[in-house]
Amino acid sequence: MKPDSKLDHEVIIIGAGVSGIYQLYRLLEMGVNVTVLEAGGGPGGTWYWNRYPGCRFDSESYTYGYSFSKELLEEWNWSEHFSGQPETLRYLNHVIEKFDLRGHMQFDCHVKSGAFDEDACTWTLTLDDGRSLTTRFLITAIGMLSAPTMPTIEGVDSFKGTAFHTYYSPQEPIDYAGKRVGIIGTGATAVQLIPEIAGKVSELTVFQRRPNWCAPLHNGPIDEAAMAEIKASYDEIFAKCHATPGGFIHGPDRRKFAEVSEEDRLTFWEDLYNSPGFGVWLGNFRDVLVEEIPNEAFTNFIADKIRARVDDPVTAEKLIPKDHGFGTRRVPMETKYFEAYNRDNVHLIDINETPIECITPAGIKTTAAEYEFDIIIYATGFDAITGAFDRIEFTGVNGQKLSDKWIDGPITYLGLQTSGFPNLITIAGPQGGSVATNFPRGIEEAVEWNTELLKYLHKYKYNRIEPKLDAEDEWTEHVKQTYSYSLLGNSKSWFTGYNSNVEGHDKIRYMIYNGGAVRYRQRLAEVAENGYQGFDLR
Ligand code: NAP
Repeated sequence: MKPDSKLDHEVIIIGAGVSGIYQLYRLLEMGVNVTVLEAGGGPGGTWYWNRYPGCRFDSESYTYGYSFSKELLEEWNWSEHFSGQPETLRYLNHVIEKFDLRGHMQFDCHVKSGAFDEDACTWTLTLDDGRSLTTRFLITAIGMLSAPTMPTIEGVDSFKGTAFHTYYSPQEPIDYAGKRVGIIGTGATAVQLIPEIAGKVSELTVFQRRPNWCAPLHNGPIDEAAMAEIKASYDEIFAKCHATPGGFIHGPDRRKFAEVSEEDRLTFWEDLYNSPGFGVWLGNFRDVLVEEIPNEAFTNFIADKIRARVDDPVTAEKLIPKDHGFGTRRVPMETKYFEAYNRDNVHLIDINETPIECITPAGIKTTAAEYEFDIIIYATGFDAITGAFDRIEFTGVNGQKLSDKWIDGPITYLGLQTSGFPNLITIAGPQGGSVATNFPRGIEEAVEWNTELLKYLHKYKYNRIEPKLDAEDEWTEHVKQTYSYSLLGNSKSWFTGYNSNVEGHDKIRYMIYNGGAVRYRQRLAEVAENGYQGFDLR
């Protein structure tokens, strides 16, 4: 791209996570003057921040790595089928060193605001170190689960022991031995964390509001021979991911539930339950996540699995969700999660029965008792997808704030841009396809599409791009419709933008394109082939 000497950069990327790293690589390849601004002290995004014990992939490791470089695929060895956070962070740092990206990244760099200047057709970013930087194009790679939320419980700041949200787990590992630990939350994060520390702590008390349908991960090591086989099959692995709605190696079984005899159904389900990864969720009969009757049957199957794994029937019933069917919220993958509750030192508190009244200097007080802790861990989730945008004050044309535009829910074109905010490109932004997929598979496509778009703008000497209002309305309406494609659309979870801890987010918002990666890819290709149809180019 032609450098503009008046600008600090032709492109600024906010965020050095999985998507920011790849976008940087592609732009440097084009010879663009680009920098990455990252709030963390190092690269990695999600994998930099989330250092809680047990944090690991729920995607097969070899489907999570970047696919763009054969050399990278050839040289990197994954040690486990579902690798842990330290290994993933090492992998991302390896990518950065290999492709010489670090020199283009600035760390501990908080972007406070970004304002579009209509006359100059540029963005000016203000950083909390007092600097301001100008750029023609602004790309956000700020993650979809990067704005952690604490519960709005009285006394949170009064606790005298160690307390943290899992996203901000201390960088130095904590010694849990002999500690009394309280955990609030039972989502995918807590489900990884609980069994990991249950055997180390003296007492572990879990405060559960709603249980989730969890299923076994079946992780295991990858030995040299298995890794060699994986390397030899990368083309097939990525082709498989390319063909599934979620970008995983697991895609729906083409059969419908009722087409299969009860005996064969049970054999199939046992098989899924005993297989590694998301197959149990994403590889099921194609109507299990779409229609009530098949969903209820599979839900009952999983409930019996929980009953069989938890010794105390009362505890088992508490761990079985009653308000939603299997898979209608993100399924946490677990390793001996249910067995953790068979330990004498692990206690489950149903806060519907005995609500938390407050956090005290000594621990957590419910309506029934006060529990004393050395450590309180908040595994209370995120203001998903739009939360990261709300933390930066984006001002577009005519002084419009992005947070105002999206106050009742996001409005975008293709989940990649939004009108009134020209030259702002949102990788992994709301209503995009990549947020509902095995993340790297989705973002590689979004990054490649953005890169081609920037090449096109350069070729035809455009310096301003903005979605047309009608294109944006049509996309936002279409995204809404995709929520009726599956039972996930009705559930209260971050998929539907629900978060009880954030004002105004205790209702369903249309955050994710649920039409599947294959259709999303087709749509992106059509738009590009038609000269970036739906965009106003100047
Ligand atoms: P989450 O799924 O949103 O779970 C948050 C938990 O905190 C829920 O159990 C929630 O209860 C509870 N909670 C929130 N506010 C509360 C309050 N005020 N009082 C009591 N309980 C409260 O968050 P998460 O577990 O961090 O997971 C978020 C997402 O991160 C996952 O769905 C997944 O996509 C991703 N993740 C991925 C991996 C991986 O790939 N390996 C691992 C971990 C997380 P309710 O259910 O009642 O709201």
